[in-house]
Amino acid sequence: MIDADLDAVHARIRAAEQAAGRPAGAVSLLAASKQQAPVTLRATVALGQRAYGENYVQEALPKMAALADLDLSWHFIGRLQRNKTRDIAAHFDWIHTLDRLDLAQRLAAQRPAGRPPLQTLIEVNVSAESSKAGVAPAEVPALAAAMRRLPGLELRGLMCLPAPEENGARQRAPFAALRRILEALGDPALDTLSMGTSADLEAAIAEGATIVRVGTAIFGARS
Ligand SMILES: *Cc1c(COP(=O)(O)O)cnc(C)c1O
Repeated sequence: MIDADLDAVHARIRAAEQAAGRPAGAVSLLAASKQQAPVTLRATVALGQRAYGENYVQEALPKMAALADLDLSWHFIGRLQRNKTRDIAAHFDWIHTLDRLDLAQRLAAQRPAGRPPLQTLIEVNVSAESSKAGVAPAEVPALAAAMRRLPGLELRGLMCLPAPEENGARQRAPFAALRRILEALGDPALDTLSMGTSADLEAAIAEGATIVRVGTAIFGARS
């Protein structure tokens, strides 16, 4: 089952890349593995999936330990909390949900010496809902500029998780907005747009996603 589901997600990504005139392999797949057991991840690793996104530090750390024999890339995609920065800095390769300078400063200070810089994305609130995580679009340039001065972090781009929309054109609007915010920063080192999930990865790829974060389409519905 999981091999067919993973194949289907790869096929969707390829088709969307083609439809957008983008090269094959332009978009990488991050498996959103919250609530999935290590044995399940082993099955997808055996199928070639090496990048995993986790939302909860306390859930992720034992999973990482159980899979320490494998060469995997771990991305933190959950809500960032002040008391979790040390564990994130110590154990993750990427963070997609940075939205405060003080937390960036903590992560930078806590990144262990000898590890590569934590690959960092700023989460942007492109839906303009006050309840949603992420910085306002107007705040992105100042946060990006301040983060560039921090050792231990490498700013790579932007991430968003817009409110769900059924209609394809409506799905594309926030993704287009995120792409324009990245373009306006005018920095070729910022090469990453993390956007699109099981429900809307085609719309995100049409607007330039370089990472899609997919859970249910690979692993099935969560409880
Ligand atoms: C769970 C999650 C996803 C994946 O969503 P699916 O609908 O399961 O594909 C993507 N991004 C974030 C931030 C998530 O928490």
